[in-house]
Amino acid sequence: MLASVLVLSWGLTSSFLFFQLRSQLDRYVVQDVETVEGLLSYDASGRLTLREDYHNHPESKQRLERLVEIRSADGSVQYRNERLRDQMLGGNPTPDEGEGGYSIRSVRLADGTPVRMGSRRHTLDGHSLLIRLGYSEEPIWARLEELAAASLLALLIVLVLAGFAGYMLARRALAPLEEMACRAEQITSERLHERLPVGEADDELGHLARVFNSLLARLERSFEQLRRFTSDASHELRTPLTSIRSVGEVALQKNASREEYRDTIGSMLEEVNRLTELVDSLLTISRADAGSIQLHPTAFSAMVLAREAAGLFEVLIEEKGQQITVAGHEGITVTGDRVFLRQALVNIIHNAVKFSPAGGAIAVRVHEESAGGIRVEVSDSGPGIGREHSEKIFDRFYRVDESRSREAGGAGLGLSIALWAVRVHGGDIHMLSTQGRGCTFQICLPRTDPG
Ligand code: ADP
Repeated sequence: MLASVLVLSWGLTSSFLFFQLRSQLDRYVVQDVETVEGLLSYDASGRLTLREDYHNHPESKQRLERLVEIRSADGSVQYRNERLRDQMLGGNPTPDEGEGGYSIRSVRLADGTPVRMGSRRHTLDGHSLLIRLGYSEEPIWARLEELAAASLLALLIVLVLAGFAGYMLARRALAPLEEMACRAEQITSERLHERLPVGEADDELGHLARVFNSLLARLERSFEQLRRFTSDASHELRTPLTSIRSVGEVALQKNASREEYRDTIGSMLEEVNRLTELVDSLLTISRADAGSIQLHPTAFSAMVLAREAAGLFEVLIEEKGQQITVAGHEGITVTGDRVFLRQALVNIIHNAVKFSPAGGAIAVRVHEESAGGIRVEVSDSGPGIGREHSEKIFDRFYRVDESRSREAGGAGLGLSIALWAVRVHGGDIHMLSTQGRGCTFQICLPRTDPG
C-alpha cells in the first residue's frame, strides 16, 4: 500500500512538474516568436534573413536549442536555422495555422526529437510569412527521468525501512497476543483456575485478556457447580439405594413371616418412591439447565391452582392434625405453564407442611398486585429459617438442618426447582421469616397480557 501511495504521489509530482516546465517553454516560444518578428528582414537580393545578434542573447544555451522555420504564404520554406538543418519543423502547415494568435503544439522532428512548437502569421514588406519556432522537449524528459530514477531509489529505501519497521512494530504489538495464545493453549478443564496475562496498558489487548479471564471465571464457576451437582446427586442417590439393599439383605437372612416380608417390601417401595422423586427432580434440573424445557403457557385461575396444590397434601395434613386455608379473589388469572407453576407451588406448600409441627396452620393467599402482577403467599407455623440461610435455601441440595430435612424426605432440590420455574416466567420468589415463628414464601409473577 505504501508503494502504491508513493508511486501515485510520484506520478502526480511528475505530471505537475512536466506541465510546469512545458508552460514555461510555451512562454519562451511566445516571447521568441515576437523577437524573431522584429529581427526579420529581406536583404538586397530579396532573401529573408534573421539578424545575427539574435544569438548573442544571455540565455545562449537555450537559444542554441531553438529551432526556427519560416514559410511563405504558398508553404515554401524561406528560412531554416542551423539546428534544424534540412529537417521539417511541424510538417506541412494547416490553412489556419498561426492565424489570430499563437498556435502552440507538440511535434516530432524527423530524427525523433520531441519539440514544443509555436506558429504565428507575420507580414513583412507586404509578404505574408508563417513563423514557426520550437524548443526541444528533451531537457524536460531528461529532468523527469532523473526524478523517476531518484524516486525509484527513494521508494526502494523507504519500502525496505518501512517493511523492517512495520515487522518490528507488529512483532512488538502482537507479542502479548502470542503469549495469551500460549497460555490459553495450556488451560484445560482441570486448570480452569489459570488466567491469561493482563498487561499494564488499558488497551484492546488488555480488554481482550480481561474479557477472556471473566469468561474463564464463569466457566470455572459452572464447572465447579457441575462437579458439585454430580457428586451431590450421586450422594443423594446412594442413600436410598443403600437403604433398599440393607433392608433386603436383612430380610433375606432371616426366616421371616409373610407379614414381615410385606413390611420389608413396603419400606423398600417407600425408598423407591423417594428415589423416583429424586430422579424426576434431577431430570427436571438437568433439562432446565440445558434449556430444553418447552413452556406451554395457558391462562388459568390462580385460586383453582392453589386449591389443587393444597389438595395434594390433604392426607398428610390430616395425619399431622394441621390446618390449611386457601384465600384470595376468585377472578385472578395467571398466564404461564400450568405444570411448572403448579410444581413450584406444590414444592413450597410441601415444605410448609413438612416443617410445620403437628396441629400447625398453613395459609395460602392469592393477591393481585396494583401493577397487575400476581403474588401467592404460603405461610407456615414451622421453625422458620435463619437469616444466614435465606439466600442459600434456593441452592441445589442445600438443607438448613441436614438430618431433619432428610428425614422429612427432602433432597434440597424443591426450592431450586420452584425458583427456576418462577424465574422462567419472569417472576421471583422471596422468603420472609422470623426465626421460631414460621416463614412466608412469596411467589411473585409479573403481569402477562393475554395473548
Ligand atoms: P427439601 O426438598 O429438602 O425440602 P428445599 O429446596 O425445598 O429442599 O428446601 C431447602 C431447605 O430449606 C430445606 O431442607 C429446609 O431446611 C429449608 N426450608 C424450606 N422450606 C422451609 C420451611 N417452610 N420452613 C423451614 N425450613 C424450610
